[in-house]
Amino acid sequence: MNHVVPAPAQSTVGRKLRTSLNIYDTELIDFLFIMSKKLENVISIRDFDRDGLLSILEMARAAEGTNNSDLLKGHVLGIMFIEPSTRTRLSFGAAMVRLGGEVLDFGDPSRSSLQKGESLADTIKTFSSYCDVMTIRHPLEGVARLAAQIAGIPVINAGDGANQHPTQTFLDLYTIQKTCGGLDNLKVGFIGDLRYSRTVHSLAEALSWFDDELYFISPEVLKAPGYLLEELEEKEVAYDQFNSPEDVLSELDVLYCTRIQEERFADRLEYEQVKSCYRIRKSLLEECGVKQSLKIMHPLPRVDELADDIDNTPYAVYFQQARNGIPIRQALLSMLLQKNI
Ligand code: ASP
Ligand code: ASP
Repeated sequence: MNHVVPAPAQSTVGRKLRTSLNIYDTELIDFLFIMSKKLENVISIRDFDRDGLLSILEMARAAEGTNNSDLLKGHVLGIMFIEPSTRTRLSFGAAMVRLGGEVLDFGDPSRSSLQKGESLADTIKTFSSYCDVMTIRHPLEGVARLAAQIAGIPVINAGDGANQHPTQTFLDLYTIQKTCGGLDNLKVGFIGDLRYSRTVHSLAEALSWFDDELYFISPEVLKAPGYLLEELEEKEVAYDQFNSPEDVLSELDVLYCTRIQEERFADRLEYEQVKSCYRIRKSLLEECGVKQSLKIMHPLPRVDELADDIDNTPYAVYFQQARNGIPIRQALLSMLLQKNI
């Protein structure tokens, strides 16, 4: 794939892409174009293999800094969030607007006819007839897949319960690629609520395509789900589990922190027992002798698991991570609407 040949003269898309990506590899260009033709929905990270993941990141690189485009002019993105969100909702909106498109926000579900007893299926069917692409967040696992069957337009999963959050994963991968120089040969630690954190589930599955070692750090009740560990074993991914960050912090290239998600616990007492189970702070990093190059990530929002004395250290990449949501979502929206950045 590294040979240098001119892009095909007959392909405007090839030329545009080649210029924006600054690459001269026709195979890659063709692959990206084919990918963009094929992408119909973004529901689960499991629907992407290594090449598929990398091609989205390439597209995001091309999208970087595309702030005044009319590429998606005349298109409407529908945002239907039945769970709170700041970053995902706003960065989807910003990505669409910066590409010249419009946003239709479903708004607070308590002001919709869901409140009158309308079914979610009827609501999705109606809402999707008002837009060209939609993104949905819902507390129940599997709702995004269901929406994709009902909607008749491309659907993007913005988080379904404790299951998947694929667009977060793309921006997580993009952040790791940019800040660590690649996605292979890394020791990646996940800490906190590994049981309910959809961002951990999606990211660990994505990293299984790369040559990394994964470390899961959590109290017993918040351990990563069995299905995920089995999947990693099947793919022969090297992983280990720990109860305490002190056991492993000095080894890591990336530490991915997560909030203990109060809203997902069926048992209040169980939440109370683990809610303050860890706190990453500057003094802990110093005591553990972490690598100078360690990158600390967090999907946000944080509560008290990540001290703000880390914010101004070179370890902190979580606000950069949140910003990376824009080029990633620009890339996905363009691909789903069959437009090439
Ligand atoms: N739900 C979180 C937030 O909106 C993270 C995200 O998905 O962006 O802040
Ligand atoms: N923002 C992430 C999510 O929506 C993580 C979180 O909410 O803690 O899954």
